[in-house]
Amino acid sequence: MKPVIALVGRPNVGKSTLFNQLTKSRDALVADLPGLTRDRKYGDACIENKSFIVIDTGGIGESDLGIDAPMAEQSQQAIMEADIVLFLVDARAGLMPADVQIADQLRMRGKPIHLIVNKIDGLQEEVGMAEFHRLGLGETHAIAASHGRGVTLMMERILAEF
Ligand code: GDP
Ligand code: MG
Repeated sequence: MKPVIALVGRPNVGKSTLFNQLTKSRDALVADLPGLTRDRKYGDACIENKSFIVIDTGGIGESDLGIDAPMAEQSQQAIMEADIVLFLVDARAGLMPADVQIADQLRMRGKPIHLIVNKIDGLQEEVGMAEFHRLGLGETHAIAASHGRGVTLMMERILAEF
């Protein structure tokens, strides 16, 4: 069975860009407009002879994170379907309150989570990653999805157990 990997996080952190890198297709919509990808998107991917399925999601916005609001439906679905969750954050934007809330919600799902610090290009890796350690989410990877930097190494580490 191919592992299923869900990409979740706030809008605009680079989920669709990573999806495109992994699937090498232009299937997922990449745009500067946050929240443009409304539905889940599935792609077939293969890194270093390991196949997996990747799910792109529209993102979890502020409005999805109120006291009573459940996490965006499509993100919840993707997480349920996934064997591994990649939680993307934006190194340029820094740690946002919504990131903390998403991390809290993810922890409750009991799925393996990897924290992906994206947009590390032009930043010192350790400096860019430092503030996200506060999220307390185990394995952390620094990448620049739009340059493909760090993506293969990240996936090798993530897929090592599969
Ligand atoms: P999504 O809403 O999470 O799917 O984010 P997108 O993939 O649509 O990307 C949002 C914006 O961030 C786009 O303008 C991308 O070009 C940009 N972006 C994505 N990855 C990187 C990266 O590694 N470095 C930089 N500098 N920009 C990136
Ligand atoms: Mg997107």
